[in-house]
Amino acid sequence: MRQGLSEDLIARVLGAAPKYTLAELEEKYPPRELADGVMVTRFAPSPTGFMHLGNLYSGLIDYKLAQQSNGVFMLRIEDTDTKREIKEAVGIVIDSLAKFGITNDNEGSDYGPYYQSQRKDIYHSVVADLLRRGLAYPCFLTQEEMDEIRANQSAAGFATGIYGEFARYRDITEEDIVKRLDNGETPSIRLYSMGDPSKRIFFKDFVRGSISVPENNEDIVLIKSTDRLPTYHFAHLCDDHFMRITHVVRGEEYFGTVALHIQMFRMMGWQLPNYIHTSTLDKIDEETGKQRKMSKRKDQ
Ligand code: GLU
Repeated sequence: MRQGLSEDLIARVLGAAPKYTLAELEEKYPPRELADGVMVTRFAPSPTGFMHLGNLYSGLIDYKLAQQSNGVFMLRIEDTDTKREIKEAVGIVIDSLAKFGITNDNEGSDYGPYYQSQRKDIYHSVVADLLRRGLAYPCFLTQEEMDEIRANQSAAGFATGIYGEFARYRDITEEDIVKRLDNGETPSIRLYSMGDPSKRIFFKDFVRGSISVPENNEDIVLIKSTDRLPTYHFAHLCDDHFMRITHVVRGEEYFGTVALHIQMFRMMGWQLPNYIHTSTLDKIDEETGKQRKMSKRKDQ
């Protein structure tokens, strides 16, 4: 743990003072009263491409689990990657789901908004809590510096990423933060990871059973410097908690970061959702003849 930031400095690194306290968020989005076995699921596409069978398969599992257990199925649009966003994508997702009889329960629910780009106040309020407790910090690394770190790590045969000695701003002082902000620099906010990859985390995946994975030691970005929106990892933590999702169904490509997700849920003292990592739907590429994951960009 590092020294927590003052309220003043938190407002400066986030661009504005956080709107809510955690207690206010807990009250605004209270735990659902659910009978045993009732599932609350969400389909959470990023509007960066079209809809293919793989997406539909995932959405269908979410929908069926909720429907069969008299639960709730939500549609959450993960539109924080503004660079890769495609305008028509949201309409395509909604229409495609509707064609297969999949409708969501967002309307009339008090757990919105359902577009992540409209949930900035929530993410900033949660990250403020981590900054206060010394579990997150402002990082001023530029893209060039990160590229250089990565290249050096690869050359030396180290795991790539910002962790340990490579996390240059991990223990940045308040004076240095002020100096850099005065200088016009905008930081990203990174997790202050205390994980040790030589230790393992245990959890139960609903498809794969009991699993153990190495702890995460990467100081991943929580809030991006470019637009102050969250990364997938941080948004997933805040949204699945405050939407009170009970079962997270997602592709196996997220399996590699589940240690990080468990770590963040523990830091917040929040209940971990049940994870269901599904196999990806592959196809044989027409051009290369090789097997590959279906793509939202190529396989409509
Ligand atoms: N936005 C993510 C995707 O489209 C969602 C992953 C998840 O369901 O948590 O892959």
